[in-house]
Amino acid sequence: MKALVLLSGGLDSILALKLILEQGIDSVALYLQLPFVVDNEDHAGATARRFGIPLVRLVAGDEYMRILSNPKYGYGSGMNPCIDCHIYMLRKARMVAEALGAHFIVTGDVLGERPMSQYRRALALEEREAGVAGKVLRPLSARLLPETVPEREGWVDRTRLLAISGKSRRPQIALAKRYNLEYPTPSGGCLLTYREFAARVRDMLAHNEPLTKNTVKLLKLGRHFRFGHSKIIVGRNRGENEMLMQLRTPDDYTFEVLGYGSPVTLLRGAKSRDAVVFASRLTARYSDADTEAVVEYRDGSLIERLTVTPLSESDIARFRV
Ligand code: SF4
Repeated sequence: MKALVLLSGGLDSILALKLILEQGIDSVALYLQLPFVVDNEDHAGATARRFGIPLVRLVAGDEYMRILSNPKYGYGSGMNPCIDCHIYMLRKARMVAEALGAHFIVTGDVLGERPMSQYRRALALEEREAGVAGKVLRPLSARLLPETVPEREGWVDRTRLLAISGKSRRPQIALAKRYNLEYPTPSGGCLLTYREFAARVRDMLAHNEPLTKNTVKLLKLGRHFRFGHSKIIVGRNRGENEMLMQLRTPDDYTFEVLGYGSPVTLLRGAKSRDAVVFASRLTARYSDADTEAVVEYRDGSLIERLTVTPLSESDIARFRV
């Protein structure tokens, strides 16, 4: 019998894998890179190598973005569509399991660890929607959950599985110690659960801006402002300035103050005169210029130089996303 193990590289998924391998089950790991979760591929890869099992890597793309725009089961505390996200992951796992001839799926889910997606009814719903009802084994909480196909068929010994529930990580940390397992420190999790980041995503969707690879990268950078139908992003340091230059498209304008330390500002969307002046004064505000500044803006080639005064904090507060 073969198991496909969803391996995020985090402690719960590493323990789930360990518990399955302990029962001598032939396993393949699947690492699914989600756009708003810190990339943990290195750790997932190191874990798979350490256990001597193959690792399949998949990157979530447009389909995931469509789910995020309009999740069937809604959002959690931020813009995190956790139930739809779990369904998406299980669907992908089913696809890979079918391709590899795996008989069931293993996840590191812990009952009650996350309020939206890891209570009993949600777990059952996620399986049904993904077309894998009864085929998802959650070794960390299995003894608190209905019997699954691999347990019923005797492929897996249920008595050797665990009954962990709740948010406390202590049981998992104790197990990691017992098994002498290396695991990464929690990495901040999913950006969609953070209020500030969720506001940026909400703003994009409200303005019908597409969630593409480019726009997702922009969401993670700089200070964001909304001016009518324009989106304005100001770099906070040299690295972000360089990224903004890399991510600019031919339709975008970029702004810089001449003769002073200056951020790069990117203007996307409507290019009204008011928006251009606002972006110029915003750039001046975050530059080293005190009173007046000459701001140059480009669409690749130079368009114009404007002499402006920097905006004050009270001028910009209502435009901040
Ligand atoms: S927190 Fe983010 S990554 Fe985790 S299930 Fe929810 S949406 Fe998906």
